[in-house]
Amino acid sequence: EPDETAATEQSVSPESREWRGILVVVEQHDGEARPVSWQLLGQARRMAEKLGCEVMALVMGHGVEPVARLAIAYGADVVYLANHPALATYRTQPYSEAVLHVIRHFRPEIVLVGATYTGRDLAGAIATRIPTGLTADCTMLDVEPPPSRLLLASRPAFSEKLMATILCKRHRPQMATARPGVFEALEPDPGRTGRIQPVEVVLDESRIAARVVEIARSHDRVRLEEARVIVAGGRGLGGPQGFRLLRELADALGGEVGASRPAVEAGWIDHAHQVGQTGHTVRPRLYIACGISGAVQHLVGMSGAETVVAVNRDPDAPIMAAADVAIVGDLYEVVPALIEEARRR
Ligand code: FAD
Repeated sequence: EPDETAATEQSVSPESREWRGILVVVEQHDGEARPVSWQLLGQARRMAEKLGCEVMALVMGHGVEPVARLAIAYGADVVYLANHPALATYRTQPYSEAVLHVIRHFRPEIVLVGATYTGRDLAGAIATRIPTGLTADCTMLDVEPPPSRLLLASRPAFSEKLMATILCKRHRPQMATARPGVFEALEPDPGRTGRIQPVEVVLDESRIAARVVEIARSHDRVRLEEARVIVAGGRGLGGPQGFRLLRELADALGGEVGASRPAVEAGWIDHAHQVGQTGHTVRPRLYIACGISGAVQHLVGMSGAETVVAVNRDPDAPIMAAADVAIVGDLYEVVPALIEEARRR
């Protein structure tokens, strides 16, 4: 939390309106929202019930009204829509201007942002401008009921050895970024009522330092947090060729490929595939762990999976205890059989 003397007038001004409500900053790219935005809206709804306040969403972009309508279906009471050509592609400066505009006008007591690359960049830029405290990369969010109304933002600290709950007592809004995959989104309800309120943000393109010259799309876009099926491999694969086999199984099941840290460190697969404490936190419906022992640093990243299948030669490997289905055997025999079965169905 910054020093109190650093606070600007607008953050402490006594004549200003009360800070009320929870604002979720929705992240969208090309009109497609990142699931973490809906997960945060779900969590914001649960917290708003304790506080007795509104859930607000902010949708920024150009031509993104459908995303605003979806935000209502996912739990927002009011959606602020900042629709501007300068917001067509993410850039720190115009996006933070738009968020600051909404914070100043509508005064949410809590602001939540997904801890994606974009969200981390944006939240930091906003917190320093207000200025207020920001708890980054949270894995638990809750609130203390009135009168304190404090955001309880928790995140692992000291290599996951303890959970630190960080409070922002003096400044408003209280800000946090939260990891994708740790909260559950509500079932979207297209019949939910809410209001969409356009906001006029003054953005002058000539004063924005960064220009978008070209957008190059990567073909290998790994979206582990969004995958419904993940087939992950570890040191037990013995080399990069193992991942070709896992890719076949993932393709047959319509899923993605994940990895443990040693497999990434050995250079068998890119870090974008890593699951765990220093990788991604995932919540697929099905997680198949092949040749992974189940160290705690791996388990924290995939314990939200609905069903875990482990393939391991060692029946005593910790992953076997964490699995719903434990297959004891050589993965080079078991995985081809699984591929055959998956293709047959
Ligand atoms: P191992 O522990 O070596 O396990 C290999 C397994 O494969 C064994 O159980 C073995 O029985 C099995 N096996 C071998 N051959 C076969 C075969 N042919 N068929 C079937 N099974 C076979 N780890 C992560 O995964 N993600 C992280 O984000 C992460 N972050 C970390 C952060 C910190 C600060 C630290 C200290 C560690 C971190 N680690 C992380 C590392 C973690 O502690 C473990 O070392 C790692 O998860 C082990 O990877 P593994 O299961 O692939 O390898």
